[in-house]
Formats: sequence, structure tokens, C-alpha cells
Amino acid sequence: MLIDYRSDTVTRPTPGMLDAMHLAPLGDDVFGEDPSINALERQASDMFGMQAGLFCPSGTMTNQIAIKCHTQPGDEVICDYDSHIYQYEGGGIAFNAGCSVRLLSGDRGRITAAQVMEGINTVGDVHKAVSRLVSLENTANRGGGSCYALSEIEGIRTVCDRHGLALHLDGARLFNALIATGDQPRDYGRLFDSISICLSKGLGAPVGSLLLGNVDFIKKARRIRKVFGGGMRQAGMLAAAGQYALEHQVNRLAEDHRHATAIAEALAQKPFIESILPVETNIIIAEMRQPWKPQDLMDYLRPFNIEFFAISPRRFRLVLHLDITPAMVERTISLINDINILPCSQA
Ligand SMILES: *Cc1c(COP(=O)(O)O)cnc(C)c1O
Repeated sequence: MLIDYRSDTVTRPTPGMLDAMHLAPLGDDVFGEDPSINALERQASDMFGMQAGLFCPSGTMTNQIAIKCHTQPGDEVICDYDSHIYQYEGGGIAFNAGCSVRLLSGDRGRITAAQVMEGINTVGDVHKAVSRLVSLENTANRGGGSCYALSEIEGIRTVCDRHGLALHLDGARLFNALIATGDQPRDYGRLFDSISICLSKGLGAPVGSLLLGNVDFIKKARRIRKVFGGGMRQAGMLAAAGQYALEHQVNRLAEDHRHATAIAEALAQKPFIESILPVETNIIIAEMRQPWKPQDLMDYLRPFNIEFFAISPRRFRLVLHLDITPAMVERTISLINDINILPCSQA
């Protein structure tokens, strides 16, 4: 069986989730008549203490809708250089919202209140784009699953309030952060104007993300979702999967975090590993020592049915998730321990 560390998006629905999907009452969600979607939107917004929610096909869509709703063309979005919204959403900030980006160079994907302050353009300077929105990512994917301290976000909120900026959270893996830090969903609900959460990452639903915000924001977002082609019809089966995930598959994320730490500890012993980012949640990002390359380790482990991705010429990423069992982790660790000399493709 494939031991697939490429992403936490590769999970399959569990038997309990499939039952929930099968039993979901359905209606046309573009008419607002799908009871399962309405229930999921309510459940999630209540959980975060926010007014309303919107079910969307992907986290890219929830982020892009949020950016579009918070801005006008010519405005500027402030975010970390490694942000998903900048790196992995196809240039959507420009394409969908007509905005420019102020990229900050944070610490493992996390920016500070002081950096945000410096990134704000002077109001009234006709040379400059209008700073309008700050977007944070928690956990930060390219930061190796790093978590924000709530106090830093509070500082950023204060800066946003002082300068009239909206604050969005790309919380594709927010539940990993909540499990790791013990922070509560409501802590986040009160600090952000909008929050995107993914049901299809660690939570293990096959499809779906939620955008949360106040009633006016979600009303606008619902319109933009339709314009982006994301209005779905009897999609309650997907919402039922998401609801099941929120009810049954959040607390188990701690197991993924333990697995990630254990694998990272094994990797850290090897001479071909230069460094590993601190493992805070379910992601391991490691750098190969020269002259080795990620491909060398990928080639070595592939015959044992272990897959993962390189994310740069020297760095690779392993992601833990629902479908990685303790036995798979043990097998992975013993294979890593047994590597005597890793063949090197190029001296
Ligand atoms: C996966 C991910 C998203 C959304 O991705 P989709 O594949 O469009 O659902 C957004 N932000 C981060 C940080 C992600 O890792």
C-alpha cells in the first residue's frame, strides 16, 4: 500500500463519513435550500462565534472570494512572501481582484505587527497603491506548519484597526494550529474579519472549504462565489462529509503531529540531512545536505512505496494525515534508520 506523504489532501472518506454523506438531506444550494449545507455553514460560524458561513469547492476559492470582497482594483494586499494566496493561487490576487501585493519576509511564514505597519502605504500618496487588506496563514504551509502566537495576531489586529485595514485568515490548517496551541476557535473569530478553513486537508473530507464572516460580508461573498462559478446545487453530500469531519476528525490531528515529530527525529540523525524546520504540527520540511538532493531520498524510498514532494531544489516536505497509520509511520522510521549510505545522483 502507498504511504503517501505528498499532502494531507490525499485522504479518502472514512466509513462513518460515507454513511453521513449517504444520509444527507439535499436541496439546491444556489436557492439556499440545501439543508446539509445550511447546517454546516451554521455549525462552523457558531463554532468560531462569527455571524455567517459560505461553503465553497476549494480553499483557493474561499481565499480569492475574501480578497475580492475586501478590496477594489488597485488596492494592495499585505502578506508573507511564502503565503499560499501568493505562491499557489495562480496569480489570483491580480487576476480576480486586480490588486497588487506587498510581500513581507516573515519567520517561517509568520509576519509581525511591526512588519505589517512598515508595509502600509502612506494614505493620500498618489504614487502608491491603497493598502487595504492583511492576510495571514495559520498554520503556515511553507513555514513547515508553524503556528502563530495569538498575541502576535492581536498586535496585527490593532495595527489593522488603526489603519482601516481588513484582516483575513487563510486557515486551511487552522485546526492543526488550534490542536497544537490549545487556542479556541472563538479567539480567532473575534480577531479576523474573514476566515477560510479547509475541510479537505487534515480533517479528511473529500472536498470543500468554508468562508466565515459577518452577515454583510457573506452576502457579498455569496454573490462573488456565483460569479466565480462556485455556486453548487445538491452539494449537501459534501457538506455532510465536512460536518462529520468537524465532529469526529479534529481531535485526532494530535496523532498526525506526534507522527510528524517522530519521523523528523529519525531524519535528524541522518548525515544527508542538513536541517529540519521545527515541527509544530503535521508538516515536516527538511533540507538535504549537499551534494545530496531531495530526489536522492525520493528515489531511495519509492521502491518501498513511500512518496513525498520536493518543494525547492534542496528542500522536501512530508505531510501527515488521516490515512497515515501508526504502522506506516513505524515502517517509515525503520526504513530511514536502516539507510546506511544514501546514493547520490550527482557529486
Ligand atoms: C491547501 C491550501 C489552501 C487551499 O487549497 P485548495 O486546494 O484550493 O483547497 C489554501 N491555503 C493553504 C495554506 C493551503 O495549504
